[in-house]
Amino acid sequence: MDHFLYRDGQLFAEDVPVAEIAAQVGTPFYLYSRATLTRHFRLFQEALSGMDHVVCYAMKAASNQALLTILAKEGAGMDVVSGGEYARAKAAGVPGERIVFSGVGKTWEEMRAALEGGIRQFNLESEPEMEVLNQVALSMGVVAPVTIRVNPDVDAKTHAKIATGKSENKFGIPISRAREVYAHAASLKGLKIVGIDMHIGSQLTDLEPFRLAYRKVAELTETLRADGHDITRLDLGGGLGIPYVRSNEAPPLPLDWGQVIREEVGHLGCEVEIEPGRLIAGNSGILVSEVIFVKSGEGRDFLIIDAAMNDLIRPAMYEAHHDIVPLKEPAPGTEEQPYDIVGPVCESGDTFAKQRLMPPLEAGDLVAFRSAGAYGAVMASEYNSRPLIPEVLVDGDQFAVIRPRPSFDEMINRDTIPEWV
Ligand SMILES: *Cc1c(COP(=O)(O)O)cnc(C)c1O
Repeated sequence: MDHFLYRDGQLFAEDVPVAEIAAQVGTPFYLYSRATLTRHFRLFQEALSGMDHVVCYAMKAASNQALLTILAKEGAGMDVVSGGEYARAKAAGVPGERIVFSGVGKTWEEMRAALEGGIRQFNLESEPEMEVLNQVALSMGVVAPVTIRVNPDVDAKTHAKIATGKSENKFGIPISRAREVYAHAASLKGLKIVGIDMHIGSQLTDLEPFRLAYRKVAELTETLRADGHDITRLDLGGGLGIPYVRSNEAPPLPLDWGQVIREEVGHLGCEVEIEPGRLIAGNSGILVSEVIFVKSGEGRDFLIIDAAMNDLIRPAMYEAHHDIVPLKEPAPGTEEQPYDIVGPVCESGDTFAKQRLMPPLEAGDLVAFRSAGAYGAVMASEYNSRPLIPEVLVDGDQFAVIRPRPSFDEMINRDTIPEWV
């Protein structure tokens, strides 16, 4: 459910007509709904209610400071994967004790900054990382709270580029080696083991892989406890998928996911941490774009729009589907026709959809990509010297630009030309 609905024949974001925002801000732009964002965050809080838990929003999905500040006010923790994300979490007012640090390649500078600023735990992914964190902590005279990310070797049955829990992935340590690695971690004086971490992938639309993975983690908890480790927290990752095709996909709800968590690890008395990203941000955002030309090709019509792969890379990178809807609601019974929907970037990969059925559109018409809130703006680049597009936030009947579009000069002047050129 989201708050982007047709009203009086046009698409609204909460109580504001999207076309009105487009007229003020110019296209293309990302548009977020505050009500949708908070609603999805609260679904996770409810899913784990009664359990000792923290919802650590995986901010790599969408990390505008306004969005982070809204979630921080809701009491969210954050899952960060870089020094920049750690700084964003702190800037949004998230206390260190609610920030978990994930990622396979943390540098010592990043470790140091997090230890200085406060951190709930580091989710360690390898033995070399363990050694470095130990050194950093000892050099600062502190002890770093850690979990170790185990790779439960389950098939998440999702797109290969977003599956992380199979043994061939770069993430975590094989669960079969967990006892050995935990024993080693326990011998390092700069580390304090607090739990176990896992994350098997993204856009999972089936609960079974979660169940299998959590069962393995529950068994491991008992084994590690028997070995004398103090396992008090389980970080169960994120990855719950969203319906990109509204009509025929019904992925499990956070409440169903919460039920699996209760069933598989509820008896262990651990504090549960979850790291949802996509499901919190995905449906909270749309990408609004204008049709530049309709071009008739051989046997097909191209809808050339002013958004491109540099603004939203998911279709090019993951073959992702986004529902694309006109801002003007088509009259009932309007006959649809197939279009290839493409951007202006000089790459054949700059194709959002092939032979997509749409109502007839013409130059100047506005369209919206649904479910563009997660892994949209954060993955944008300035390829083809197209400045990063603005982000806008709606709350009820008000809206504000939460990241302005840079001018060409601002973009150009970030570069410096050495005197000797
Ligand atoms: C990406 C990621 C998440 C969030 O995944 P979603 O599919 O957006 O929920 C959570 N934890 C880790 C470690 C990740 O890398």
